[in-house]
Formats: sequence, structure tokens, C-alpha cells
Amino acid sequence: MNKDPSKNIALQSLPQEIEGLNEIALNLWWTWNPKGKNLFKLLNPYLWKESEHNPILMLKKIPKSSLEKIVKDDEFMKEYRYVYALFKDYLNNKSSYIKEKPLPIAYFCAEFGLHHTIPIYSGGLGILAGDILKESSDMNIPIIGIGFMYPQGYVKQEIGSDGWQHGAKEELQKDLAPIERVLDKNKNHLIIQVPFIDPPVYASIWKVNIGRVSLYLLDTDIDKNDPWDREISYRLYTPDMHQRLRQQIVLGIGGYAVLRELGIEYSILHLNEGHPAFAIFERIRGFIEEENLPLDEAIKRVKKSSIFTTHTPLQAATDVYSFDMMSRYFEDYWKRIGLSKEEFLSFGINPDDKASGFNMTVFALKMCENINAVSKKHCATTKRIWKDVFNEKDENKIPIDYVTNGVHIPTWLGEDLYEIYEKVLGDRWPALQDNIDIWKKILDIEDKKIWKIKQKNKIKMINFIRERVRQKWAKQTIDPSVVIAEGVMLDPDILTIGFARRMTSYKRPDLILYDLDRLEKIISNNSNPVQIIFAGKAHPADIPGKKILQKIFKIAQEPRFKGRIAFVEDYGELVAKYLIRGVDVWLNTPIPPLEASGTSGMKASINGVLHLSTNDGWWIEGYNGKNGWVFGKEPSNDKEDANELYDILEKEIIPLYYDVNSDNIPYKWVQKMKEAMISLTSKFSARRMMKEYLDKFYIPITKKIRKEKNG
Ligand SMILES: *Cc1c(COP(=O)(O)O)cnc(C)c1O
Repeated sequence: MNKDPSKNIALQSLPQEIEGLNEIALNLWWTWNPKGKNLFKLLNPYLWKESEHNPILMLKKIPKSSLEKIVKDDEFMKEYRYVYALFKDYLNNKSSYIKEKPLPIAYFCAEFGLHHTIPIYSGGLGILAGDILKESSDMNIPIIGIGFMYPQGYVKQEIGSDGWQHGAKEELQKDLAPIERVLDKNKNHLIIQVPFIDPPVYASIWKVNIGRVSLYLLDTDIDKNDPWDREISYRLYTPDMHQRLRQQIVLGIGGYAVLRELGIEYSILHLNEGHPAFAIFERIRGFIEEENLPLDEAIKRVKKSSIFTTHTPLQAATDVYSFDMMSRYFEDYWKRIGLSKEEFLSFGINPDDKASGFNMTVFALKMCENINAVSKKHCATTKRIWKDVFNEKDENKIPIDYVTNGVHIPTWLGEDLYEIYEKVLGDRWPALQDNIDIWKKILDIEDKKIWKIKQKNKIKMINFIRERVRQKWAKQTIDPSVVIAEGVMLDPDILTIGFARRMTSYKRPDLILYDLDRLEKIISNNSNPVQIIFAGKAHPADIPGKKILQKIFKIAQEPRFKGRIAFVEDYGELVAKYLIRGVDVWLNTPIPPLEASGTSGMKASINGVLHLSTNDGWWIEGYNGKNGWVFGKEPSNDKEDANELYDILEKEIIPLYYDVNSDNIPYKWVQKMKEAMISLTSKFSARRMMKEYLDKFYIPITKKIRKEKNG
């Protein structure tokens, strides 16, 4: 354990017998291992809850006397030693589930969604990046993450009585987050200078431990920077394009400098989305200046060894910087690597809109030979919208592949299912998780047991929602109608539909509100009622998104919906975990083909929450006719889609849910839950996803590089 206090700013000193708790707290391993989580809960159940599952905060608050007492508690100490040994075994275990080890990979992303105690993500992209690092740790894939520390996170969502979203600042409290300082030779906090920005910009470097994997974060909020530069990393996805360009320079070029400074060896560059693509320039410069390669050789080498994962099915949603802005920051750069201004800027010119500026996605598409979309359908869409970049009329010839997203199963699976799988599938189930055959054993689990877990998760979710509203009620003067709209009247015995995702037009959060009279009949049916829980943030600059949110919130306040429509504030990893396990049906209504993949439906399905979705993204590959429902047309039509949605609810979903046997269990529903868990868990696991990244990219690239070195 590192005892250097200047490194682990967060930690308290603990009695020597349980010092290892600090180590566990500073490694996110515990977040996906129920035994790790349980250890903190055992330590002090009340503080555990009060700290919202933040072990660092809890260890700070726990009285010394209670620590002295706990080291004398044999039960606790036994569990502590067991969990600590598990943790150490995990860290030291060199076995892996891969046939062949790839060369080290540097994985760049603008956001990482790992845990709510480190809010440096906004949504799906970040959560995916987080799941990739967790799975890489489990599989022993040599990867390191490079990202940004956002001292002000994304936005903390607060909704007024009028339903309008007010973005509150969420300060990331560095001394309560599972992060540590990276130190320089003199044991001071390591600070790098971002190459090629003048006047200079500096960033301090933090590290997050994710099992066996490290994630390095750049932080510009330091004294050494001018105030304007300190703000570079304040906010995720700032709408100020100038500041955004500076962010991406710091992330791509500064991130590359971090690797160099730390002497980290890596051979493969993986860009998750276009935001960090400037790393490519820095890689080219590195090959030229450090390895004396000629420019075109350097470019070739970079293309061969870089992977670009695109997530956006719309040209309009990519970042584009004016040529003026680009020139201002990159003039020295193109000179240094031996390019003319025209050549340099041409890398980012979109052939479909040449005058628009420097397009980050086009740049990444041109500079990486290894490109993937995130589902089969998204792959076809990507080829179609970017075919001019490849100057290729035949879309089949465009070299873009796909790796459908997956989710880190131990992170997203509820604890009760995790436990029951240990009994039914054996305690090695996490090692075997992408073998579809093991999941068939779910059929051996009694319906009663599955249903009991489902109901328990629902009650946990409702308690969590009510507790949050209670706290809000106690803290501020709010209108009682807000309390109702935020879910105090939810009932665990009612069929519950969940819709939680970014509040933005293409996801159509209000599709189910299309015909309010018809919906009122469905919701208030006396014998077979329905309730709907919404959650999701609108991007602060997305006014139409905020208006949709407001519309939902106002409808939730209407007495005719009886408190059975709820809006849960501040959707994030913590809220997501309760919702994807607690509701009965997970609703997804994007306009096809705009949902590149989606992952929340996977998280729901592995927990036996049935997916009801338009035919888009991952669901095209997941739906088998028995494991959920599909509706809607492409091209979409709101009116027809909404009517089809109501029809499915009235004719299939509601009757199935309320058809119970003599034990009061909806046995046919439970069969469908089992079918979803069996057919979708292995297929949409991050394990399957990482094996595909290995097979399609990491290993072939490794072979090419090795061959060149030897040849
Ligand atoms: C999984 C997840 C997402 C991604 O969900 P989509 O299906 O892409 O909408 C977004 N936010 C959070 C907090 C998540 O956990």
C-alpha cells in the first residue's frame, strides 16, 4: 500500500488491522464485486447509506471509537481478511481469458462513467468507456485509459416546480473521490505542459484504479494556469466552441504527452469517438521526431495502428471547428511536422460540406485504418453517411466494421441475481459468462425465486426514489405537486414502465404521452393499472430537450394520472442501477436509425426487465420474438408508432403481467424474463464485446506491427 500521504489525498489513517480498507476504497474493484461492497456495508450500514455508497466519505466520517471496536469483532475481521485476500488475488492474478496477448493499448475518451463518486461522464458514451476498462481489467487486457477530470462534472439536474431544468453545478470533491495524485520525481503532483499551446497550458495528472487497469485524468484547474485556462476542463461538452477546441487539444495532445511523461509503453491507439482525435497529430509528430520516420511513413504507421470507434449516426452531431480557429492553434504544429496549411487542414475537410471547417470525425475516419461502428445497423448507417470521405460509391467496399456494444455484467447485474448465479451456475460464472450454454441453467431457478428478486428490486427502487424526494422536501420549500411528480405515490404492485435516457428530440421521450386520453385509460384501469417512471437530463444547451422534459413533468403533476407518472431527478449511474433492475418494462422509442446502439436496454434485460423498443440499434440483434417486444416503423411516424405502442400495451403486455397463478405469480411473464436473461446476457456482455475488439482489431494490429519489426 502506498503510504505517501501526498499521493492519496482522500485517505484517513485506519487501525493497522484494517488498513487494507483504504486500498480497497481506492480501487473501483469493490464496485463490481458484491463481497467488496458488502464489506463496507458491514462496517457501518447507516453511514454506508448516508454516504450514498462512497467508502472514502464513509471512512472519513466513521468515529475512531467505532473503528477500534470493529477490529475486535471476529465476524467482521474474518470477512475483512477474506475480501482483502480476494482483492489481492485479483490484482496479482496473471491468468486471462485471451488466447493471445495484444500489444498495449492507449484508450482515449472524453468521458468515463465508472461510478457516481467520480462524476466525469454525461451518459452512454462514458459508461461504455468505463465498462470497457472494467472488462479489460477482468480479462487482463493491457489497456490504459486517458481522459479528463471535470471539476464541475456534467450538470447536476434540478427541476423547478414549473418543470424547467435548472443546471446546478456539481463540484467534484477531489478529497471524496476514488482518485490519487500522480507524483513526479520530487514527490510533487505531476504537472505536464500541453505541447504547442501558446501561452502555455498546464494540466495536473490524476489516476483512477479500476482493478488492474489505470485511468489517467488531465486537470487544468490548477494555480499555474490563467483563469481562462483553468476553466478548460471545468465542464463536459461545453457549448462554447472555442473552449471546446481547447479541451480537445488538451485531451488529445496533452493526453499523449502524459503517456510520454510517464514512460508508458503502448503501441495501439484507440479513439473512442472523435473528441480525442488530436492525439493522432501528436503520434505522427512522435514518430517523426523520436523515431526519425519521414512524414508519410509516420502517417502510414499511425493509420495502421490506430482504431476509431464512431458513435454518431448523424453528420450534424459531430464537432467542426472553423479553419480560423484551427489555424490559430495549429500553425506551429503543421510547420513542425512538415505540412502546408492546406495539407494539414485537408485531413478534416468533409467532402459533403467543404467550407464548414475541420471535422473531427472526418479527421479520425481518414487517419485510422481500423474503424468500427457500435452495432450492425449503425455500421450500415455510418457507411452511408460518410461514403464520400472514402470516395467510394459501393458502400460494401468501405472499410468499416462493427463491434456491437456490451455491458459489464458484474457492474450492472443486481446483487441478488449475482448471488443466485453463484449457486446455480457455480461461483466461476463470471469467468464463463460469454458461454451461452451456462445461462440455460436459469431455467432451473424456480419462478417463485425469480419473481421474489424482481419484486425486491422494485421495492428497493421505490424506496430510493421516495427517500430522495423526502430529502428534497425537507431541504427546500417545494410545491406538493412536485413531490407527487417525483414519485412518492409509486406502488410496487403495479406494472411499471421505465424510460430513462437523455432528454432529446430523437429519443422521443414523450412518444408514450402522444394521446393522453388513451394513456389515462391505460394508467388508471382499476384492475390492471400501469405506472411510468421517467428520468434523464437535457443537455444545458438543448432547449427542445428541456421543453420535452417540462412537458413530461407537468403531465406527471396532473391529478388525472393519479401520481402514476413520475419523473426522477438527476439520472446518472446510481439512479440507473435502481431503475434498470426495478421496473418491469424498459421502454425505448428512438427514431430509427438514430440510436447507434443503446446500452441501457441491455442492462435492463440481464436483470429480467423486458425491453420494449423500436427496431433500432442493438435491439435488432437482440430481439428473438420471445425476449421482449418491438414496435414502430422506419421511417417513423409518431402517431402510428404511438398507437402501436398503446396496442401492444393493451393487448399483450398488460394482460400478460396480470395473468397470475395460484401463488400470485405472473408465471408467463416470468418465462419471458428468463428467456431475456438467457438469450441476452452473454451476447451483450462486455466480455463478448472485448473479445471482438481483440479478434477484429487488437490482435491483427499486433501481428502487423510485430511482423514489420521482424521483417
Ligand atoms: C447505460 C447508461 C446510459 C446509456 O443508455 P442508452 O441506452 O444509450 O440511452 C446513459 N446514462 C447512464 C447513466 C447509463 O447508465
